[in-house]
Amino acid sequence: MAVRKAEALTHDHHEPDDGDIVAPPPKIPVPDEVADAIRTLIRWTGDDPTREGLVDTPLRVARAWKEYCSGYGEDPQIHLARTFEEVGGYDEIVLLKGIPFQSHCEHHMAPILGTASIAYLPKDKVVGISKLARVLHGYARRLQVQERLTAEVADAIWNGLHPLGVAVVVEASHGCMTARGVRTPGVAMTTSRMMGVFRDDERSRREVLALMGY
Ligand SMILES: [Zn+2]
Repeated sequence: MAVRKAEALTHDHHEPDDGDIVAPPPKIPVPDEVADAIRTLIRWTGDDPTREGLVDTPLRVARAWKEYCSGYGEDPQIHLARTFEEVGGYDEIVLLKGIPFQSHCEHHMAPILGTASIAYLPKDKVVGISKLARVLHGYARRLQVQERLTAEVADAIWNGLHPLGVAVVVEASHGCMTARGVRTPGVAMTTSRMMGVFRDDERSRREVLALMGY
C-alpha cells in the first residue's frame, strides 16, 4: 500500500549559516503593568526582583509569553486555504508523524511538551504537508488543555479539507504534573480524535493507528 510519510518538521525557519548577517528581530515593547505583574510574582515567590540577575527578567518573561502565545494572533485554519486538487489518483492516508510541539496548560500556565501525529484520508484535496504542522502550532501556541488542542487540530483539518477521515493523536507530558503537585516525571498523557472513516470503520482506524506506531 502506498503511504506518504513525511519527516516531522522541527522548525519552519531558515537557520542562518555562520557568516550570514541576520538582524535580530525587533523587541516588542512591554507595558509597565505587565513588567510590574511579573515583578510582583517574583516577590511573591520569595525572591528580590531588584537583584542584579532578576532586573531584566520581567521584560524577558513578558516577551517569552508573547511568543508562547503567538497563536492568538493567527487563525490556524488559514494554513489550509491553499489546497491541491490534482492528487494523481492518490487515495491513501497522508500522515505527518511525531511532530514535536510546545504548549502551555491553561490551569497552571506550565509547559506542555509533546508530539502529535496527524493523518487524513483525502477525498479530493490535499495540502502541503508542512501546513499540518503549522495548524498544530497555531493552536498549541495558546493556553490550552490537551483534549481541546487535539480536537481543534482535527476539526480544522476536517473543516478545511473535507477529507474522508481525520485522525489526530497527541502524546504530551505536562509540567504541572511533572514539576509540581504529584510530581510524576516521565508520565505522558495521550489524547486522540478520530473523525469520518477513522471513527466509523474499525479497520481504517486500526490501519492509521498502526502507521502512527500505536
Ligand atoms: Zn496544568
